[in-house]
Amino acid sequence: MEPSQGIAHNIAAIRERIAAAAARAGRSPDEITLIAVTKTHSARRVDLALAAGVTDCGENRVQEADEKIELLREARARWHLIGHLQRNKAKRAAALFDMIHSLDSVKLAEALNRHVEENSLLGQRRLPVLLQVNVSGEATKEGFDLIGGVTNQTALVSLVEAARQIVALPQLDVQGLMTVAPYSDDPEDARPVFRALRELRDELARQIPQAAWQHLSMGMTGDFEVAIEEGATLVRVGRAIFGERG
Ligand SMILES: *Cc1c(COP(=O)(O)O)cnc(C)c1O
Repeated sequence: MEPSQGIAHNIAAIRERIAAAAARAGRSPDEITLIAVTKTHSARRVDLALAAGVTDCGENRVQEADEKIELLREARARWHLIGHLQRNKAKRAAALFDMIHSLDSVKLAEALNRHVEENSLLGQRRLPVLLQVNVSGEATKEGFDLIGGVTNQTALVSLVEAARQIVALPQLDVQGLMTVAPYSDDPEDARPVFRALRELRDELARQIPQAAWQHLSMGMTGDFEVAIEEGATLVRVGRAIFGERG
């Protein structure tokens, strides 16, 4: 099979699985955006995914994304930063990405806010961001700590306080939460993690109604269907589209 057919075929199969998972949860598939995770893949291969109807791409690293976004400018994709962002790259990230999923500290939020403010003279609007939350303590060390979920009162109190400070920053548009579940062969293992993120979102929406909290970015190749059943609006899929990373 031509690689282009492979990618288009994979995307069609994922869209069917998204629709089936949405149906099981009584949701409309229109509520769910497929983000093609393009890290390590060439602009040429990303272009094949865009030609097959992908509208949103996810990258982990600012520099790698910078080159690809430049090469694919004409395709007008939306670009999501899903990997850890260092503060010294915040300026470039604020200019490059349509959404930052990996906001994990108040200091980083303040830096982004300042850079968007500077760019606003050039017409940049408020920057959509998601707070990354570490629910399981196993998948990664990144994100605001809520290990154990919303019953972890101490962690919840400090997370709510951080969220209040971030929501108050005028140039950031806080749209929800992101998490990474621990790797497992059984997607059901991720369900409690995704459920905890949704419960946290509901709690934040109650306590901080100034933000909309409409997005849950959760689910990858191994567990996106479970994530959709638990309320994901953004699924981040790499390997199931492009194959194993080299
Ligand atoms: C790499 C990555 C993905 C995609 O993972 P796959 O298993 O290839 O689907 C999703 N989210 C984040 C944060 C990633 O780093």
